[in-house]
This record gives sequence, structure tokens and C-alpha cells, in this order.
Amino acid sequence: MASTLSDRLSRLVKTMRGQARITDSNVADMLREVRMALLEADVALPVVRDFIARVKEKALGTEVVGSLNPGQALVGVVHKELAATMGEGVSDINLATQPPAVILMAGLQGAGKTTTTAKLAKHLIEKRKKKVLTVSADVYRPAAIEQLKTVTRQAGAEWFPSTPDQKPHDIALAAIDHARRHYFDVLLVDTAGRLAIDEALMAEIRDLHATLKPIETLFVVDAMQGQDAVNTAKAFKEALPLTGIVLTKLDGDSRGGAALSVRQITGAPIKFAGVSEKIDGLEVFDAERHAGRVLGMGDIVALVEQVQQNVDLGAAQKLADKLKSGDGFDLNDFLSQLGQMKKMGGLSGLMDKLPSQLTAKAGNVDMDKAERDVKRMEGIIQSMTPLERRKPELLKASRKRRVAAGAGVHVQEVNRLLNQFEQMQGMMKKMKGGGLMKMMKRMGG
Ligand code: GDP
Ligand code: MG
Repeated sequence: MASTLSDRLSRLVKTMRGQARITDSNVADMLREVRMALLEADVALPVVRDFIARVKEKALGTEVVGSLNPGQALVGVVHKELAATMGEGVSDINLATQPPAVILMAGLQGAGKTTTTAKLAKHLIEKRKKKVLTVSADVYRPAAIEQLKTVTRQAGAEWFPSTPDQKPHDIALAAIDHARRHYFDVLLVDTAGRLAIDEALMAEIRDLHATLKPIETLFVVDAMQGQDAVNTAKAFKEALPLTGIVLTKLDGDSRGGAALSVRQITGAPIKFAGVSEKIDGLEVFDAERHAGRVLGMGDIVALVEQVQQNVDLGAAQKLADKLKSGDGFDLNDFLSQLGQMKKMGGLSGLMDKLPSQLTAKAGNVDMDKAERDVKRMEGIIQSMTPLERRKPELLKASRKRRVAAGAGVHVQEVNRLLNQFEQMQGMMKKMKGGGLMKMMKRMGG
């Protein structure tokens, strides 16, 4: 999995601790990480450059408040700027015209125009209480006209027939005449796409635009298109005055960086997001949420912030250094890790914030019991002498009995703790760099 922005920035956090503001000297490293994160999310390079320049201007001199560090403060600036960039403009469909309000759908083949036409029909019927007609001007593939007929029925809208031997121009005129005479509020015009931009296609859709004078010209683009979305968007923007964007297939696993590219290149607002193949899989675009997705952060942001605020990074770093220098992981370290875990809001608090795949696996764990176990483990370690904590191998039968009595537990429990400690120690040796720091970084992803 590609590293997320919080992942990347947390690597820089150590060196920047204690710095009170974002300055020329610390911003360069951080912006490099932001740049990589955006490229990994498939935002196009020229768009990334522009964006970074804007973020830099906004970030410089930003005071780092409270327990935040410059890295976190910058994530805040980036997130806000990203949401603002993608979120400007009106989201819903503009229908403020003499009916029928015509909506022209444009985009490459396979982008999702036909599907989105039907989804929009349903949206306008249900949310805006409109009488909606659809028509297909895709005369190159007979199946395309049939496809629109089928999905229009599913949407509960009316479909105006067209045939492959007609000219798109004539279809448009006939449909608009029908819509007028039958008092439709909205006419949705689905068009042909090509696999790549070509001049004939652009000429045809320009002609349709001139004939129909649509109030909305929506550019439908596949979120999975990534970097290529830029060239497509450029071509359509040059051909047509776009009024909005529909970003489809956001249910796929792309990070959706195309949203930023397409928004920046067309200047048109992103109005809707396609989130499934089904007729109801259309959502009003939510820029805040999408910014989190592009940065690869989502709900994990809250967790990372909490961890970084509550956990003593100094202690974690000391531990990491100690392991690197060859000193073993001892029971004092184990005790300190247990303490850090408690500071992070206890096990159950932590579980609440972890991604669902993780918590599903731990679904059967009894949280209360787990927390009682942690307390008991602390009690046992605290009953040991400092020397025993550093050299657990000293703990033979008689010492174990003394520790057990001190902690008020059975000797078996002391043995169990020592086993757990050994497992942890083995893990630490393998990781060679401090479990907690690693763990925190992993939680950032
Ligand atoms: P067109 O060529 O632009 O008309 O594209 P279509 O509407 O025919 O869609 C192409 C394919 O993408 C079809 O298989 C659709 O079911 C699928 N599709 C469209 N929108 C979405 C979406 O938001 N999510 C998913 N998963 N599939 C979509
Ligand atoms: Mg189609």
C-alpha cells in the first residue's frame, strides 16, 4: 500500500518537534512529502505544482498551536486548501430557466454518461419533484440507445426514442420539441463517447450544444482515469462551456486525485459523485470528505492526532535509540509501553478509532477484560526490583513467588507475563527500532 500523507509527515515529526511555526527551512521537507502523497493519489503533475505553491504561501508563518507540531499544522493547511479547491461552486443542478431545462452529458466512452443520465433523472424526480425526459444521441452503437431506455425505466423517467440512422442534431431538435409540447421540466441528453478524444466527436458535441443551448453541460469523468483525466478534461473544456463535473466510479479503490486535476483544469464545480453501478449510486460531491480520501487519511487523522498528543514521543524515541544501540528491550520498557497504551485512551478507546478491517478481526476481544489484564501486568512488573526488571532471567522460582505475592496474583500469572514479555522482546528485536514509533506510524496508514 502506498504511504499516506500522515505516514510521510510523521517521519518528519521528530526533527521538527519544538519548532513553533512553519518556516522556509522546515516547510520544504514537508511539502516534498505532500507532493509525493498527491502524486500517489494520481493528481496530475502540473496541478500538483500549482497546488503546492498555493499551500506554501498559506502555510508560511502559520503558528503551530497547542500540542500540534509543524507537520500536523501543515496537514491542516493542506486538507483545508484541498477541500476549498475541490469544493467551490454550487453543487446541485441548475434548473433556473424556461422549461424544459436541458442538461447535456459529455465525456469519453465508458466514463459513465448513460448510467449517470439515469441516476440524475432519478435524483431530479425524487429530490426536485421534476418531470424528466431522457434521449440518447449516441447513434454509433445501437445498444447504447437500448441501454438508456432500460436505465431510464429503472429511474422512473420517460425516454424519447431515437434510432442509429438519425443525425444527433435531428434527435436533439425532435426531443426538445417533444419535451416542450409535453411540459417536461428537464430534458437529459446522453451523447456518444469515443475511446479517445477525436475532432469529429468534439465537432458533434459542439453542434449539439449550439442546438440545445443547455443550462447545464456536465463533464462525466471516471475517477479511475487518474493522470489521463487531465488531457480529457482539457479537450472537453476547450470544446464546451462546462458547467459541472460528475466524478464516477468513486466506489473503486482509486484515491480520487482526478477530482483535483479536473476541477483545476476545467474550473467547473464537481457536482456529483458516482458511487455504484446501481441507479441510486449518486451522491452530492462532498469536498471535505474527498480531501481526506485524496490525502489517504480519512478517520485515521483523529487517531494520529490523539496518539501524537498523548504519547510521550521522547520516551518512545529513547526506547528506539536504546534498541538501536544494542541494549535489549527489558521489563521497564514493557511497563512503559503498557503505560503509553493507557494514555492513548485505553484499549477500547483505541479500538474505536482503528479501521474497521482491524477491529473486525479483534471483534471477539473482551475489552474490559483486556484492560484489567493490562492493569494486572503493570502490578506484576511494579512488584519486581529494578534489577529484576532489567534482567528478567534472574526471576527463578523463589523470586517469582515473591513477585506474585506482592502483586496479589498466582505464580502462573507471573509466568504468563514473562512469556508475553519474551514474545514482545522477540518482536522488538526484529523491528530494531522501537515498537511504539513503528506502531504509531503504521496507525497513520
Ligand atoms: P458511457 O459509455 O459513458 O455511457 O458509460 P456507461 O454509463 O455505459 O458506464 C460504463 C460502465 O461503467 C458500466 O458498466 C457502468 O455500470 C459503470 N459505471 C458507471 N458509473 C459507475 C459508478 O459510479 N460506479 C461503478 N462501480 N460503475 C459505474
Ligand atoms: Mg453511453
